Amino acid sequence: GGTVSTPRPLTPGRLADGTAIPLLANVGSPEEAAPAVALGAEGVGLFRTEFLYLDARTAPSVELQRSRYRDLMAAFSGRKVVVRVLDAGADKQLAFLGHTHEENPALGRRGLRALREHEDVLRDQLTALAEAQNDTGADLWVMAPMVADVDETAYFIGVARSLGLSTVGITVEVPSAAVLADQIVPLCDFVSIGTNDLTQYTLAADRQLGSVAHYQDPWHPAVLRLIKLIGDAARVSNTPVGVCGESASDPLMAVTLVGLGADDLSMSPGALADVRATLAGVTLEQARELATLALVQHSAADARAAVANALA
Ligand code: PEP
Ligand code: MG
Repeated sequence: GGTVSTPRPLTPGRLADGTAIPLLANVGSPEEAAPAVALGAEGVGLFRTEFLYLDARTAPSVELQRSRYRDLMAAFSGRKVVVRVLDAGADKQLAFLGHTHEENPALGRRGLRALREHEDVLRDQLTALAEAQNDTGADLWVMAPMVADVDETAYFIGVARSLGLSTVGITVEVPSAAVLADQIVPLCDFVSIGTNDLTQYTLAADRQLGSVAHYQDPWHPAVLRLIKLIGDAARVSNTPVGVCGESASDPLMAVTLVGLGADDLSMSPGALADVRATLAGVTLEQARELATLALVQHSAADARAAVANALA
């Protein structure tokens, strides 16, 4: 069992008023592309590229990367593919990035911080992505993880554009970047909100530590308010904003995220059908009202309950 025999027809994500909310997949390897398409993914909203680097003593060659990126892009021909450059340093330590033991690796030389000190690794990855895009004609969007401020945003965008990439942005997952959304978002061709880390860092609770797992709740009004800052900044500068954290897999949260300004949502492919069904039942105006309701609640539980009751 377990084989997907009849791929479903692709039903685009759409609100009750006809507003398109593309529903995209989070994938961690090219092999996950075909199952995601079968489940109705309209593209890729987060391609985590760490798989290429795990257990590697040296960074993978441009040629190897190019062929793996080509595999993924070919499966989504003509559709949007958002690729995140290497996010090492938190749970994945890499010797060739100079990682040594850190007491708090989630707060350490993670993501773009490490790549910036090893720009050759970053440049090789971006070069391979640009070549794979040329090979496939993919609609490629490239973003950096763990970006904290304007300086880091401008740095990444500068390097990526200089290597021929045309659609460049960042993952907003550090609270400082959300607070500075009005400065950062206009520099980007797009942004994608990483609610997993945004929640972890906003609540100051290690997402890998079971004893504080109850803090890891994106319904927390503090997290919702940061997301609103990003959504508002995106609307002002007419910049596309997506969500790629696991929160988008919760249909009630998906509606709320749209109300906070998300233009598309990316999730584990298994969640696409339920999210699609729930979005189809609300208008953009209703989603905004639900978001407003959630924002004034005093706890995560109250925020979720408020949206659930209003939708019921
Ligand atoms: C996130 O932080 O929300 C995210 C999508 O990235 P990751 O879970 O890989 O850190
Ligand atoms: Mg993250």
